Amino acid sequence: MATTEVIDPSTGEVFTTVPSLGLAETDAAIERARIAFGEWRRVSPGDRARLLRRFATVVEEHIEELARLEVRNAGHTIGNARWEAGNVRDVLNYYAGAPERLAGRQIPVAGGVDVTFHEPLGVVGIIVPWNFPMPIAGWGFAPALAAGNTVVLKPAELTPSTAIRLGELALEAGLPENVFQVLPGKGSVVGQRFVTHPAVRKVCFTGSTEVGKSIMAGCADQVKRVTLELGGKSANIVFADADLDAAAAAAPGAVFDNAGQDCCARSRLLVQESVYDKFLALLEPAVRGFRVLDPADDSSEMGPLISSGQRAAVTSYLEGSDIAFRGTAPDANGWWFPPTVLLARSNADRHWREEIFGPVVSVLPFRDEEDAIRLANDTEYGLSGSLWTRDVGRALRVSRAVETGALSVNSNSSVRYWTPFGGMKQSGLGRELGPDALLSFTDVKNVFISTGD
Ligand code: NAD
Repeated sequence: MATTEVIDPSTGEVFTTVPSLGLAETDAAIERARIAFGEWRRVSPGDRARLLRRFATVVEEHIEELARLEVRNAGHTIGNARWEAGNVRDVLNYYAGAPERLAGRQIPVAGGVDVTFHEPLGVVGIIVPWNFPMPIAGWGFAPALAAGNTVVLKPAELTPSTAIRLGELALEAGLPENVFQVLPGKGSVVGQRFVTHPAVRKVCFTGSTEVGKSIMAGCADQVKRVTLELGGKSANIVFADADLDAAAAAAPGAVFDNAGQDCCARSRLLVQESVYDKFLALLEPAVRGFRVLDPADDSSEMGPLISSGQRAAVTSYLEGSDIAFRGTAPDANGWWFPPTVLLARSNADRHWREEIFGPVVSVLPFRDEEDAIRLANDTEYGLSGSLWTRDVGRALRVSRAVETGALSVNSNSSVRYWTPFGGMKQSGLGRELGPDALLSFTDVKNVFISTGD
């Protein structure tokens, strides 16, 4: 079988080798998943719930191991990686409550009884990017399995190790063979086969908007269900009446977390012009003090970028741009890049408009509420964002007006596993997490039983 080398981004060295599946192996795995679906959908709700809880417990028992693996697999800080493994456990526990509660409705009709069922779809294909290998996998497989589907999951080529380990832990927890299979390989081979194989009934794709569009177009051919979680260029809007100290302290983490390789990164910082200079003066020490260290170090707040290619792409945004100030990064092997603040000349600047996916934030002043909303919405993306104000009326007006799937007021929070997460406009289609995601892994069936009246 072909293999791929996995590189530790903090050293630039190969740390493991994993299989890379071809077309025939992918087809064989999908066929096994199709057969396993017949059994899995008949497992009683109570037993399905117990198996998912057992899977969560086994993940819990391996959090430290999974986190250490993610440090090398993806360059995540150990603190973040522990949270990410814990998130997989939490999502499994949350959706373990679903099999026993996923009830249809009884609808009043004349001449009989009418009931609905939430039927599982069959085999679900999940395609995961390299930036959050564990949580994004869990957000797909936990609700899909809870709803009675079987899952084939393709991790990103750059970061397959933790997903492969999760696949092993599922078996250790007692999930039946072939109910959850992890298939490492290329997007153009394994991922594309999820799109074209008729036994795969739904594709959940998280990744770039460009690839997402081609997946959506491919799925149209079989009217295949699709969930898309795509790119972002989220706004962080700071009004003059905000707690500026709190907003400035939070702004670096809002964009430099995971080295900015975060679809929710608040990479457009909008500051009301009357406090613009004051805010930048508060921001500067927070950026310079952001701890970019070996990700295995407990005090590290940011590790390296994922690859040399990513570092070259991020660097290209600095050419001809006005740098306000930068933090520091280790002068060592690996794909390090310092936290960087750029001054936007207008909202036409390339660094203001494009998703950089690195530790770079662009700052632009705005006049008033209307101007802030106009600038925030002047993008094809709409995934996340924050706004900072002490005025409750303004908080609600602006929250409703910004075209984004998730927004937080006086905080950086984007993701809670029990609330819906997803994008507006070209940031995506459908929602993950919370109750909405569960139903997206089912089709509603309506059954009428005549009583002969
Ligand atoms: P990518 O689109 O290059 O790849 C994502 C996944 O798709 C990988 O597993 C890849 O192998 C696979 N793939 C690539 N081409 C394919 C094809 N033709 N058919 C099927 N599968 C294919 O994205 P990436 O570079 O890995 O991730 C970064 C992007 O992901 C960013 O744009 C980021 O914003 C986005 N993202 C979005 C969310 C969200 O929830 N909205 C979360 C994380 C990342």
